[in-house]
Amino acid sequence: MKDILPVNGIFEMMQLPYDAEALGVISSNTLGFHHGKHLKAYVDNLNKLLPGSGLEGKPISEVVRQAEGGLFNNAGQVLNHVMYFEQFGTANHEPTGKLLEMIERDFGSFGAFQKEFEQKGATLFGSGWVWLSLNSAGHLVITQEANAGNPVRSGLVPLLTFDVWEHAYYLDYQNRRADYLAALWQIVDWQVVASRL
Ligand code: MN
Repeated sequence: MKDILPVNGIFEMMQLPYDAEALGVISSNTLGFHHGKHLKAYVDNLNKLLPGSGLEGKPISEVVRQAEGGLFNNAGQVLNHVMYFEQFGTANHEPTGKLLEMIERDFGSFGAFQKEFEQKGATLFGSGWVWLSLNSAGHLVITQEANAGNPVRSGLVPLLTFDVWEHAYYLDYQNRRADYLAALWQIVDWQVVASRL
């Protein structure tokens, strides 16, 4: 996982690595609110809550592991959203090489993995995130995290995540969360995902 370090004590707002019109299955309208408003608020709140917490200057993964309450919620949402937005793009929409071998070893096939990942995202009650992670035994696992949860809290290495908070899909898909989840495979950049191993 690529960690995020504060610059002079401040976590900076990430820029999207693609044009807001480029993804298609997520509209620029959704991206404008999700990235420009929701993530911006989490970044601002994180920077407000850090001073005096004892976690100033730490990489974000460390803040997410150690913080509780409002600081945890905002730090978790910053890390989760950076990983979410950065994993999309206009190329490399199929896993290859070592990561594909691991997916086939641990889930049977890429299709079986996608089915389980979508199902765990669709059945997560309320707001949260579905994750693909690497565990300490070197195996891939799919987990559900409520609200701002991130697998680093359980000692896992997070690789891929789909946001199932309603703000991630309601403008484009209304209540059809399963359709949103199924559409996201069209924009995952698996080279980014593999770089997190
Ligand atoms: Mn979100």
